[in-house]
Amino acid sequence: MKEELIFCPLGGSGEIGMNMNLFAYGKADNQKWIIVDIGVTFADDTVPGVDLIYPDPGFIVDKKDDLLGIVLTHAHEDHIGAIAHIWPKLKCKIFATPFTAVLINEKFKEKKIDISGYLKIVQLNSTLNLDPFKIEFVTLTHSILEPNGLKIETPVGNILHTGDWKCDPDPLIGENINSNRLKEIGKEGVLAMICDSTNVFSAGRAGSELDVRKNMLKVMERLDKRIIITSFASNVARMETAFYCAEKTGRQIALVGRSMHRIYKAARQCGYLDAVIFSSKIIPGNEKKLYKLHNQLVKEGIEVISEDSEFIHVSGHPNREDLKDMYNWIKPKSVIPVHGEHRHMIEHINFAKEMQVPYPVKVENGDIVRLYPGEKPEVYDKAPSGKLYVDGNISVEEDAQSIKERKNLSANGFVEATILITPKGNIHNKPLLTFKGLPVYEKEEFQYGLEEEIEKTTKTFSMNNKKQEINLIEALKSTCRKYTKEKTGKRPLTNINLVRI
Ligand SMILES: [Zn+2]
Ligand SMILES: [Zn+2]
Repeated sequence: MKEELIFCPLGGSGEIGMNMNLFAYGKADNQKWIIVDIGVTFADDTVPGVDLIYPDPGFIVDKKDDLLGIVLTHAHEDHIGAIAHIWPKLKCKIFATPFTAVLINEKFKEKKIDISGYLKIVQLNSTLNLDPFKIEFVTLTHSILEPNGLKIETPVGNILHTGDWKCDPDPLIGENINSNRLKEIGKEGVLAMICDSTNVFSAGRAGSELDVRKNMLKVMERLDKRIIITSFASNVARMETAFYCAEKTGRQIALVGRSMHRIYKAARQCGYLDAVIFSSKIIPGNEKKLYKLHNQLVKEGIEVISEDSEFIHVSGHPNREDLKDMYNWIKPKSVIPVHGEHRHMIEHINFAKEMQVPYPVKVENGDIVRLYPGEKPEVYDKAPSGKLYVDGNISVEEDAQSIKERKNLSANGFVEATILITPKGNIHNKPLLTFKGLPVYEKEEFQYGLEEEIEKTTKTFSMNNKKQEINLIEALKSTCRKYTKEKTGKRPLTNINLVRI
């Protein structure tokens, strides 16, 4: 039996968000595993009442005795957001650079878990030994402090896991991209590069935080307003830019995060607010909410500046010219695109082919890729993968009854009938009806009609015969749904209570 080197994404491949990647090394019956990143995705309106989604860790939970630790590339939520949800099932060591470690600590504090014995701080550009893996943190540039690429050294070859990055010649805060080290790593030979695909459709370069600063200064000068609120997503350089520009221009500013409610509340509280600068990306899928907020603000006479109208945001991910740099430095034998929807990843495969990479491999969540042995990496098996939804305090599966019922409720409304059955097997009084979320204006008429239909159905049953109870309930549910569908066009979630008195 030969040693194998394996890569398996459990999240973030085929979607942007909830990144979670596994690497394994060893003979098939004795493999050691590491997790790289453990993030969340923010839920949209299609899952009512759920804010966070994270990858189902079941596959690695089963292997937790052979798990050496969780290694984190940087502190964005799509890379660390699920850690406090998943860690209790793994109870392994966590490795992160100082800034990321502070934010992780906060997450565990919120959950009242003392993580100090498990959370290990790794210095920038240093190496961590997790035998048989040797993991070197290589400083890159992105849109948050301390973004790290990971050189994962194994006895059979090296992997470069880029994490999120771009080439920013002037990141303003934090260190510059360690291109010298990346070039050396390229010379040492890289079996596979696992690479960010977010901006693969964008030509040119992602741009620099310094460019944003220069333009933000112009915008603030032109605005000549008293208070400007900027919005950003955990981008410390951008916060610094906001303060810098305020000081230079003598404007008063207030900063709020990306959260729209917070922005609106802050806008209203500062009665003398004149302008809002959204110095962040308009995320596809989120436009509706964002434009609704823009509309509310402009209606109140507040000027809105966004990336639609001004150059006040740069992406933290590599455009094609940035990717070219990385490819030229690393010269990988294989590229596995991650951090993208399927369309990004296919385009990234095409890009890798253009860049003469011998073996680009397209993967999706759950694919088990053998990087070694073999002439080229290939997907040879499938791990169970999926999503867990944070529903209140509980994590539930995608097809959980609670989620199904709420989707059903939110789309179709609800009808409940309670029927009191006398010892003689008759209905006592009338059925008690409750209906919610249905477009019914003539309530009494609707109720009267439904009562009649229910009574008709009950007459076809011998109500004293308990053996028929299940059939009776099903028949009554069907009556309620049919009647409601006829009257309103909706097929509601239906509940029947039979009470024997
Ligand atoms: Zn990031
Ligand atoms: Zn990311």
